[in-house]
Amino acid sequence: MNRKLLDILACPKDGSFPLDLHVFEEDDEIIAGILVCPKCLSWYPIREKLPEMLPDDMRDEMEELAFLSKWKDLSPQKILTAGKPFNLNKKAQKKILQP
Ligand SMILES: [Zn+2]
Repeated sequence: MNRKLLDILACPKDGSFPLDLHVFEEDDEIIAGILVCPKCLSWYPIREKLPEMLPDDMRDEMEELAFLSKWKDLSPQKILTAGKPFNLNKKAQKKILQP
């Protein structure tokens, strides 16, 4: 994802703008990271350079939790504990360990 996209991306749920960007991997563009809505704490993954801003019901919970888990050391704490629609609170941790 090109950083310039931040100038146009808003939270699909509440229109909040701008979104917070947390970069996990970057070369000429952002390869992996998350976009976070500071208002509702929804987060959206950037995977293989593409920001995925899907409605909650089109997101795969297990896949999203695995993504968050993989990058937990670089993710903001508030998203790990209270991010929407998925986060790594105790209930979610259990699901990952016992699929
Ligand atoms: Zn929002």
